[in-house]
Amino acid sequence: MDRDGTLSHEVGYVNHVSRFRLYPWSVEAVRLLNRAGWLAVVVTNQAGVARGYFPESVIHEVHGVLGRAMADGGARLDAVYFCAHHPSVGEPPFRQDCDCRKPRPGLLKRAEAELGADLARSWVVGDRHGDLQLAWNVGARGALVKSGYGLGEWTHLAPRWPRPPDLVADHLLEAAERIVAGGATA
Ligand SMILES: [Mg+2]
Ligand SMILES: [Zn+2]
Repeated sequence: MDRDGTLSHEVGYVNHVSRFRLYPWSVEAVRLLNRAGWLAVVVTNQAGVARGYFPESVIHEVHGVLGRAMADGGARLDAVYFCAHHPSVGEPPFRQDCDCRKPRPGLLKRAEAELGADLARSWVVGDRHGDLQLAWNVGARGALVKSGYGLGEWTHLAPRWPRPPDLVADHLLEAAERIVAGGATA
């Protein structure tokens, strides 16, 4: 799962923990994945660190809030992975042409190595085309949600995409329900 626009409101850079707001369906969506025996992993680009907009500590703070919200609702994220890099902006070590900035596969490869995620049977759910590209880059399937940037991308950009999403859903909970039910198609 992507974070901003998928699990939480897309508000631009979450440069302070107070700007982080989960969507009302997110805890239920993750709980559903947990109960169905799927790994629930968050993969997020947070280049605001490389750009100097906020320190890396903000990301950890936000993910603490995220984890507690999940726990309070009886849900569990198996991992929350982020890329704080940017290939051309800022100072090292955050300015680097890394392998983990989506749609590059590094964060998913980590899920494969650390959690045993079966990428060929996995889905990436996100609100932007880059999330779909990430999925396809590792042989997974990509689901577009219409929260965050999703509705705009679906309406204005998707007609020109060479490959359509494997699934389109109003939001993460609908995507999770359809994926878990199996046979999910766009
Ligand atoms: Mg997003
Ligand atoms: Zn990176």
